[in-house]
Formats: sequence, C-alpha cells, structure tokens
Amino acid sequence: MEKQGNIRISSENMMPIIKKWLYSEKDIFLREIVANASDAITKLKKLVSLGEAKEEEPYKITVTTDSKEKTLTVEDNGIGMTEEEVETYITQIAFSGAADFVNKYEKAGGDGIIGHFGLGFYSAYMVSDYIEIFTKSYKDGSQGVHWSSDGNSTYSIGDCDKSTRGTKIVMHIAAEEKEFLSESTIRTLLNKYCSFMPYEIFLNPKEGEENKPVNTPVPLYAKDPKECTEEEYKTFYRDTFADYNEPLFWIHLNMDYPFRVKGILYFPKVRKQVELERGKVKLYCNQVYIADNIKEVIPEFLMLLNGVIDCPDIPLNVSRSFLQNDAQVQKIAKHITKKVADKLCALYRNDREKYESCWADLSTFIKFGCVKDDDFYKKVKDIIIYKNLAGEYRPLESFFGEEVKEEDAKNGTEPQPVYYVSDETKQAQYVKMFKDAGLDAIHCDTFIDPHFISYIEYKNPTRVRFLRIDSDVAGVLKEEGGEDESVKKIFEDVLSERKIKVKCERLKDASVPAVINVAEFMRRMSEMNSFYRMGEMPEDMTLVVNLNNPAVEALKDADEEAKNLAAEQIFLLALMNYKPLSPEDQQKFASNSVGLLERFLKK
Ligand code: ADP
Repeated sequence: MEKQGNIRISSENMMPIIKKWLYSEKDIFLREIVANASDAITKLKKLVSLGEAKEEEPYKITVTTDSKEKTLTVEDNGIGMTEEEVETYITQIAFSGAADFVNKYEKAGGDGIIGHFGLGFYSAYMVSDYIEIFTKSYKDGSQGVHWSSDGNSTYSIGDCDKSTRGTKIVMHIAAEEKEFLSESTIRTLLNKYCSFMPYEIFLNPKEGEENKPVNTPVPLYAKDPKECTEEEYKTFYRDTFADYNEPLFWIHLNMDYPFRVKGILYFPKVRKQVELERGKVKLYCNQVYIADNIKEVIPEFLMLLNGVIDCPDIPLNVSRSFLQNDAQVQKIAKHITKKVADKLCALYRNDREKYESCWADLSTFIKFGCVKDDDFYKKVKDIIIYKNLAGEYRPLESFFGEEVKEEDAKNGTEPQPVYYVSDETKQAQYVKMFKDAGLDAIHCDTFIDPHFISYIEYKNPTRVRFLRIDSDVAGVLKEEGGEDESVKKIFEDVLSERKIKVKCERLKDASVPAVINVAEFMRRMSEMNSFYRMGEMPEDMTLVVNLNNPAVEALKDADEEAKNLAAEQIFLLALMNYKPLSPEDQQKFASNSVGLLERFLKK
C-alpha cells in the first residue's frame, strides 16, 4: 500500500531559482545521480570488506534511455535503502540538502560555487516532471521500496517487487528537456562527468551481448606512477584531451599525505604563439568531474598545461572566495607548483639535451610562471636558459656580471648590462659588430621576453640590467678619441629636419660608417605604450658616426654637394640597419644612390 506524505521543506519556490542559476549547466544532474549510485556501491564494498554484507555480482551502474516511456534511468547494485532510509535520506536529507544549497548559493552571489556542487539528488528535478525510486537494501530480508514525487510538496511511498539489491532512479523527463532522452546526449554527458568514476557504467546495454563500459574505472592518474608506461601516458593524453600531438612530457602527481592529490599534468607542444594558449586542467573529486581550470585550486600559470587533478579534500560546496582563502587549498596549490618545478629541475639536471630541445615550448610557461608566482621563480631561476650569439643555451645567470655593492648602487652604479637581440634579422648589423668584437648577447625573441626581462631586473636590481643590442653599440664598441666637431656638424645639418641626435665615436669595426642607437628606457616605454594602445611615442634616436670609417674620414675634404649626398646616404644606411625604411626614405635612398653613382662614374 502506498502512503502519501508532505515534503516538509517548501520546495515549490526552489526549482525556479535553481533553474535560473544553473540554466546553462543543468546537465550536472546526471553527474549527481550517477555519483550517488557510485557512492552507494562504495558503501556496500566497505560493508563487504567488514564482513557485514555479501558480495553478489560485479558492481556496475546502468544508464538507460527510453524515448517511448520518456524516462532516463540510473540503476546501481549498491547498498540500497530501506523504507525508513528513503524517508530519511530522500524525503528529508535530499530536499533539505537542496534547500541548503539554495541558501549557500544566494550567499555566494550566483555562480560562486565551483562546478555547482552539492545540489545532489534534487537536481534531477531540473529535467524531470517526476521521479520514481525503486530500491532494496542490502540488509537480509529487505522489502523493495517504491517512492515517487513531482518534487513539489507531496510524495508517496510503499512496497514494490524488487528482486535485486540496489537502487533504480527513474526520471520522467519533462517535455521541454527531451534532449536528455537521446542516447548520444547522455553518452556525451557521461563522458564529460563520469569518465573516471570508479565502477563500470553501461549505457543502454544490450542483453546477451558483451557491452563496453563508457568509463575507465581506474584512470591512469589513479595508478602508481611506477606501473605506468610511456605509451599509456600518451594514450591517456590523447583520449582525455583529444590532442593528437604528442605531449612533450608529463608530471604524475601522487600524494596521500598530508592531503590527497593525484593527477597528471602534461606539457603540450605549443604551436606558433601569438598569445598565450590556454590549456585545460580538469579538476576531479574522487574521480567525479567538477570543472575545468579552477583558478582557486590550480595556480593560474599551470593552466597553460593540459591535465587532470583529483583532490578529494577540497570543499566543493563552498563559495569561490572561501576556497581562495582556505589554507588547505592553498597548500594543495603550492604542492602542485612545487612538483612542477621539481620535475623541470630534474629534467634540466638529468637530460639537458631533452630540456633544451623542449625549451622553445617550455619557456613561455616557465617565464609566465615566474612572473605570476614568486615561489616558482625561486625554484626554477637556475634553469632558465637563453641562447647566446653562438646559438648555445646557457643559464641566464651565467650572463650576469658581478654584483654591485649596496653603497655603490646607492651612488648610482648600475650593474653590468646583458645585451639582447630581439630580432636576429632586423638587428643583423649589430649582431655582426658584436660578434666581430668578441662580445656576446642573448636571444630574447619570444613575446613574453620584454615583460620577463623587466621582471628579472626587478628581482635582481644589483646584478643585471638588459640593453637591446642596438641601444648602446657606441658604449661597448668605441675606442678613445671619438670627437670631431666638423664631422658632427655635417650630419647635424643633413638631419636638421629630423629629431635625431648625432654623436661621433671611433668604433672598432672600421667598415661601418654609422649606426643608430635607441635609448633602452625610452624604447621600452614606447613599446609599452603601443602594447596598451596608448599611442606612439617618438624614439630617442642617436646617429653614431664612426670616425674610423674611411668614407667618413673622406667626407671632411669633399665638396658641399658630395658631403650632403654622402652624409644622407650614410644616415639612411644606418637607419635601414635599424628598421625598415619608410616609403619617403626609400625614395630618398634610391635617388641618393643614383646621385652618388653619377658623381662616381663621371669622374
Ligand atoms: P548527498 O549525496 O550529497 O548526500 P543527495 O541529495 O544526492 O545528497 O542524496 C541524499 C542521500 O540519499 C544520500 O546521502 C544517500 O544516503 C541517499 N542516496 C541517494 N542516492 C542513492 C543511491 N543510489 N543508493 C543509495 N542511497 C542513495
């Protein structure tokens, strides 16, 4: 005999609120229902291990869609419930749990709870007109129980014939939610939320056939790293991230104490990057999918990686701001960061060749990590490498000069500069001059380098400053005796219309008549301005005329017309070695060249 009852919590108003909040994520109901089934099996297993229940059949969860009956059913062979338990757990706890969720949700301001966790059984009402439960407890002599309710104010409960232990939840899908009757929709959702749940899940299994579970009950990350092969890691990567490029390498996290974290983080190959490419770090809790890229738990810079992380100890039905300040969560995040740093350091020490070959892909990640996280910087600062002019990788710190003493620093002594090349092609002339003079520089040519070197200067104010190779060639390559007012005057006259300073020096390389130098500080400012789209700034440009160059020497005795023609040409040559000429300057260069040829050939 079925009896009727009232649901004590007023749930009529709850559903519209929940539906509104979780509009785009109502499919989490399936995770909640399947997770309950999985928990019920875990509880039974525990009792079996204590000798309090008998094990009967292989544990499994079956999901069936029935478009004729318009039902979606989730059945488990777990612990089951007695009538009293259904009253307590479903009629009371599940409904008050949902009320509790609504409260927390309101406090957290809408979307404040990670992965919308904690709604439980009640969430199935987001897609169902009414729900039936058929259940039979593991306890000897238990009677099958049938419960049903539309989720509003009343329910009915009574006996039923159920021969097998466990629980069957039959959701009568609402007309406007009929997508949840489609096998392919359900398969997609099971793949998203349940692919690592610990018991086999079958979707619409066929009787008499061998059916394949939709999930992997023991995902690779849950295994002992010692037992995992390289091939398995690669397959897991491919299957989980649908990325057919092989990952560079990976880190298997496996820790039980003082908190539990398991997972695998993969370093993907990055293609040409214009912007930071986002990876995907999926967060799980006891093999149940929660959400992607949860920045409260996983340090932001790690989200450039692909990975799965399972943290059973994270409180999930609390607000994000609570999580952010939770000491335990912070410890987990720190641990993950440390493990990543350790792995990178070990690779650097044990397999330098591989480390260097991966560097182009790794470096953005490491540099971004340093800028974002001081602790990470401290751990990896010795393994940051840069290519020198000879094309060899060296640790960044090996390019630094001696430390400037504190009192000298106070008096304005600057640390020795490290010169860098940001564009090998554009800066070819400077590179050649440096090489010829036996000087070295580093290649800083990724988009994050400008920010990164500023960060390194900020962290090491007495050890290093960076100058681009075209900012101070005169400063490094000059010899004594570099002044000549008359030569300077010739160039100043020619450049009077442009805002360019002139300086005469004796540069070691006599073959170069002049070079452009652009002050580092101003150039960085102007780069920053254009980065933030604050408009162009004029460049602080100096033409350094090389008195050692025979053509410059000969200028002094040339006639007025030749002087102007040659000085302009020397300037344009220097300018084009600094940056591409403007259309007007190209014209000028062409007509100047013709003029020079005419004079030369006429003689
Ligand atoms: P939670 O799972 O967070 O406790 P739910 O609302 O999802 O909240 O479920 C309430 C309770 O109902 C569970 O704690 C469990 O005791 C019981 N329950 C739900 N589903 C099942 C099931 N498939 N088998 C046995 N018990 C269940």
